[in-house]
Amino acid sequence: MLGRADTHVHTKYSGFGSLGPLFFPESVSDPEDVVKHATKLGDDVLCITDHNTMKGAFKARDAARAYDNLDLVMGEEINTTDGEIIGLWLNEEIPRGMTAEETIDAIRDQGGIVVAPHPFSLHVPALQDRIFELDIDAIETINAGHIDSYSNSHAQRIANMYGRWATLGASDAHSMPTMGHAWTEYRGLGEDDLRRCILKKECYARGYCVPIDKAIDWSIGVVMQADMQIIKSMLGLIRSHDAEDPMQCKIQALPTHKKILGLIGSFFYLLPPVPHVASIASGRWFSKRIKQKLIAEKPDTNSMDMKSTERSVDDLR
Ligand SMILES: [Zn+2]
Repeated sequence: MLGRADTHVHTKYSGFGSLGPLFFPESVSDPEDVVKHATKLGDDVLCITDHNTMKGAFKARDAARAYDNLDLVMGEEINTTDGEIIGLWLNEEIPRGMTAEETIDAIRDQGGIVVAPHPFSLHVPALQDRIFELDIDAIETINAGHIDSYSNSHAQRIANMYGRWATLGASDAHSMPTMGHAWTEYRGLGEDDLRRCILKKECYARGYCVPIDKAIDWSIGVVMQADMQIIKSMLGLIRSHDAEDPMQCKIQALPTHKKILGLIGSFFYLLPPVPHVASIASGRWFSKRIKQKLIAEKPDTNSMDMKSTERSVDDLR
């Protein structure tokens, strides 16, 4: 029997990203909804890995008790001074801001598994070549959120070349529609078999990157949810349920002029061509970064990557 695990999924407890003066929630998904959706997708293990917190993981664990066919693994995607590291099978939150070595020690102290998410990412803090020096169990070779072809293909090539780590596929989903595009296949069923397979390096990354239209849907969904919460807050319509919501807490703390600025900014973002233009612009930006990176590396080992990269960047246009 082959199991199917998503080893990297976010909930609305993942905090906020920013773009200049504007901020946006990293995810608006309720942990309970994420758990339910994972069972519909056929996952038998779901790992909740919010940024620098385990609040969502604890809530998801409680929600998962209602399902016999899903094991919930609590994890955290931790910002270290050297890039992001995921700890799986954790029981206690690990603080952000330590070095990679200190963070890995803290994961090991809890008996956790150490994963390098999107190790060669071009757009989020990643460990890059530091994976060679660190005590890491697994690296992601298919991260569905990395639509540039370089990050995943380079990770796969390095994994094949060195054979030192288990290879994982993961959705890195920040929204419900982006779940399920990539996963980890392993022999067995449930969290104990998954853990055993990771430690024996007997698991396989499966799936593909999230289609660009779903990525655009996610960004529109996030902006619209944030707008709704801003309007509720300005009209004084916050109920006790909303008051616990991390996005609402952040919005409540904002001065009125910033709430208005947020609404104006999102209005322009939601004008029909803007999300699509933004995706084309980011495709071009990726293309430039990838070419710079490949030029800095050995040309003989990268000719294949360059071809697939150019194809994928063309697809984005
Ligand atoms: Zn992530």
